[in-house]
Amino acid sequence: MSVFKYEKDADGIVTITMDMTGPVNAMNAEFRDAMGATVDRLEAEQGLSGVVFASAKKVFFAGGDLKELLAFKKGEEANFMGMLDTMKSFFRKLEKLPVPVVSAINGAALGGGYELCLATNYRLAWNDKSVQIGLPEVTLGLLPGGGGVVRLVNLLGLQAALPYLLEGKKVTPEAALKAGMIDEVVDSLEQLLPRAKAYILANKGNQDAAIQPWDKKDFRIPGGNASSPKLAQVLMGAPAMLAQKTRGLLPAPEQILDCAIEAARLDFEAAQRIETRGLTYLVGTPEAKNLITTFFFQMNKVNSGASRPKDVAPQLTKKVGVLGAGMMGQGIAYVSAMAGIEVILKDISVEAAEKGKAYSEKLLDKAMARGRMSPEKKAQVLGLIKPTADNADLQGCDLIIEAVFENIALKNKITSSTEQYLCEGGIWGSNTSTLPITQLAEAASKPENFIGVHFFSPVDKMPLVELICGEKTSDIALAKAFDYARQIKKTPIVVNDSLGFFTSRTFGTYFDEGARMVVEGVAPIKVDNLGKAIGMPVGPLTVHDEVSQELSRKAMETWAEMGVTDKWGEQDALREVVDFLVVQNGRGGRHHNGGYFDYRDGNKTLWAGVVEKFYKADVCMPDQDIKDRLLFRQVIETLKCLQTNVLRTVADGNIGSIMGIGAPIWTGGFLQFVNTYGLERFQTRCGELAAQYGERFACPEIVAQKIAAGETFV
Ligand code: NAD
Repeated sequence: MSVFKYEKDADGIVTITMDMTGPVNAMNAEFRDAMGATVDRLEAEQGLSGVVFASAKKVFFAGGDLKELLAFKKGEEANFMGMLDTMKSFFRKLEKLPVPVVSAINGAALGGGYELCLATNYRLAWNDKSVQIGLPEVTLGLLPGGGGVVRLVNLLGLQAALPYLLEGKKVTPEAALKAGMIDEVVDSLEQLLPRAKAYILANKGNQDAAIQPWDKKDFRIPGGNASSPKLAQVLMGAPAMLAQKTRGLLPAPEQILDCAIEAARLDFEAAQRIETRGLTYLVGTPEAKNLITTFFFQMNKVNSGASRPKDVAPQLTKKVGVLGAGMMGQGIAYVSAMAGIEVILKDISVEAAEKGKAYSEKLLDKAMARGRMSPEKKAQVLGLIKPTADNADLQGCDLIIEAVFENIALKNKITSSTEQYLCEGGIWGSNTSTLPITQLAEAASKPENFIGVHFFSPVDKMPLVELICGEKTSDIALAKAFDYARQIKKTPIVVNDSLGFFTSRTFGTYFDEGARMVVEGVAPIKVDNLGKAIGMPVGPLTVHDEVSQELSRKAMETWAEMGVTDKWGEQDALREVVDFLVVQNGRGGRHHNGGYFDYRDGNKTLWAGVVEKFYKADVCMPDQDIKDRLLFRQVIETLKCLQTNVLRTVADGNIGSIMGIGAPIWTGGFLQFVNTYGLERFQTRCGELAAQYGERFACPEIVAQKIAAGETFV
């Protein structure tokens, strides 16, 4: 029996119900067989009045089979193109049937799923929030190669289609209807099939309903074709605007733009051929492999709890205490209350705590102004946050998170004075960004219940939480913290204790290497710009100004006080810069009188003092070396974290580097980068950099081990 159930009713309507072998309907060999047989049968069907495409799964159709796409190797291009051509021919046959074909969208129709819908004449969707519609291929380094680019451009017009193609936006049925991506919505699942059939019956004999717009004689692309004067003007600027966004590092959006423009220029079949070539090119790029590996497979792995202790039952946090209502504490209170958790927000005075709560009110008001929040929900969220200066209010908390100043004595004091208020089995978390958890846990009477819960700023926007296990942290404490992170809709990675954990430590190497090059005499602006050129969100000097040199100074001071000797990388240049900027010139960062840069009247300009002190006109370093130094330092630090077990899994390393550090998207994270760069090639380049710029570039042993074992970082 086919995985496509084929049923013809008394009205001559055939309903195809897709029920593939795996958990979801996906575009793979099984699909191609079933689809091929189905369209052949439909073409031969006598007395056919219409066709409905439906799904037996919760998801209408999940799209391309990413395992199949990931397995693609160079040299397989001809086969791959042949496969795409076959798929396309099935879709073409489907839309050329002489009767209306309706897609009855009961669940998510993304990527290949929506491409199938585009090849039907009428798209009808259940108006439910589980139903998402769109073409997110670009987010995985691909393009919709099943006719998606060509059909969407023909359906909506080039300009309207571009955001969906280039950003991979997933939309609700209502938004899809408004955009013209679907034709109708129904309010309940039960109405879906009857309504699809009713549409077919109502259009019996209506030729128009069976012909796709682009196959009609007098068809004009909405908004005009690529050479219409209005569009031609838009198109002149489009590549430049795109390049500004991708910095030339992501091939998929470029291919998509190219292909979409061709779709608005050439005839349908020729455009389809270009689309096929585009996907065939992309599927072999390292960028696609990196994005698919990390953003799909590893993200699923991390979010589904691969790093969570398996034997602990799910834990629910009902009441959380947040100590310190400053920048971090107020954000932690907000995200917790948004998840329906009762929050005790404590600071040294009620006024200070109330100020922290006001932050939530501000965010809620903003959401209301955008129509994303009701007054009732706002009141409910605010009602969950209790500002206080009294420890007794913490009574019964499942979890207390500390976000006070980065000072070990203060942190120790508040641990011992609040731990007693936890409920039975409650846990205590520190949001420290640099202090070793094992050492902080010494102040706790139950160090097994102590864990690092490291948020990123701004808490409401940053999706990552880094959970740090101290030497004594128990599995149950880890499971509780993990479940809390999921409860507040964050992605948790789990790491072992080390100075700066994984993220702060690796991030630190970025601005350390930037500082080194400044001290060596390279033009500071060049260093900063080339950081952006590799795909980091901002340059290393800019980021240090943001994080603040003052914080670096304090951290160095604290480590010295603590007698911490676990130095990650020689930081002499960083010390020199911090000493020069903060101590000698009172420049502690962007919010502390400026840092490398001056910030005046909304303008950012390089502070002349940096140039006078460090710049040497005769220093000439190749751009590639500057770029590699900035990237490799971070990659090497990540490898060291894996080698020394600070990182427990490759997936945590990749997801953590992208979401917590801002690792360039195209790399798929700092470990995945090595896989597609090539392990041997990486080793060689490390050798070159080490010979020229210092031992910190020596390739970590774990790379040689992987090479010897014939493995990559997975
Ligand atoms: P902050 O200075 O904005 O806030 C600290 C708050 O703690 C202040 O409101 C202060 O009044 C309060 N506080 C001090 N002593 C207290 C006490 N005894 N009881 C209750 N409250 C007390 O600092 P922040 O930027 O929110 O950082 C807090 C912690 O989070 C630090 O450990 C920091 O390293 C860490 N962290 C910061 C960031 C960041 O980007 N700012 C990121 C991750 C982690």
